[in-house]
Amino acid sequence: MQCKICGMKKATILGKPRINKKFPRIKENNYTIVRCKKCSFYYTNPMIDLTQEEWVELYEDDYFENANLTDWQIKLHQTEIMSRIKLIKTFSTLNIDKFLDMGCGEGLVLKEALENGFKPYGLDIANNLDKSLDRTGINFFNGNLFEANYPDDYFSVIYSDSVLEHIEKPMLVLKEFYRILQPNGLVFIIVPNEDSLINDIKKILYTLLYNKSKYGRIKPFVPPYHINGFNKMSLEYAIKLNGFTVVELAQFGGNYTFWKARKKFSKSYFFELLLYPLGLISIPLNKQIQLQTIFKK
Ligand SMILES: [Zn+2]
Repeated sequence: MQCKICGMKKATILGKPRINKKFPRIKENNYTIVRCKKCSFYYTNPMIDLTQEEWVELYEDDYFENANLTDWQIKLHQTEIMSRIKLIKTFSTLNIDKFLDMGCGEGLVLKEALENGFKPYGLDIANNLDKSLDRTGINFFNGNLFEANYPDDYFSVIYSDSVLEHIEKPMLVLKEFYRILQPNGLVFIIVPNEDSLINDIKKILYTLLYNKSKYGRIKPFVPPYHINGFNKMSLEYAIKLNGFTVVELAQFGGNYTFWKARKKFSKSYFFELLLYPLGLISIPLNKQIQLQTIFKK
């Protein structure tokens, strides 16, 4: 057992993961969730070893269908993407030309990149591009980053939202980002914060309820299939070890305007209402649910 980020062999065993029954050969008892004693990266031991075909099967199956977004939520997501792109433009010292979205999903970011005058490149192992999306001017690659084999110093910006927590070898991906990014180019990444307040509470609950026989933080094979867990420290480690300079490392939280999106008095409405105070408390505690970082080559 060796940390995928810093290489340290010492780790704290936290518990057993919850495992999707889809692949019967993957047995719950064979895996543990651990946290590195040096960089505090969370991972499964041993490493999850699904084949690429099996990962694709998982993601094309239900990952996106699960979303089931309302029109209002789609609009909210579009607004979020617009503000992220604005932020990237603010920090970029280059004239942004080729823009890669790794894990582009349905393609909302590619559309926005195109509208900003960039050359959008989308990459995804699953083929979930929105059927109604006009693909003119969009370069889509269906496969993994290494298969795409982009040239050296190729992109001005690499964008990757909610991907690194799913990938078996996140350090190799960051290394590849470094190779294909132009000098002074920017990488924009969002990953869940494993040390968020809500996860701290879950950790206590799971320990009390299951006595480490089950663990709720990293969720191999249970949607959304996370196998890596980052916090601020391990994310910074991973970025710097690959030669990048951190430009900004921020946090953001839940949806604080959920009542506009959810059907009033539905189950999900009450659930979000319950979580709402936690979301607010997590802001001054610096324990929000997502980490957002921009870094530079
Ligand atoms: Zn480590």
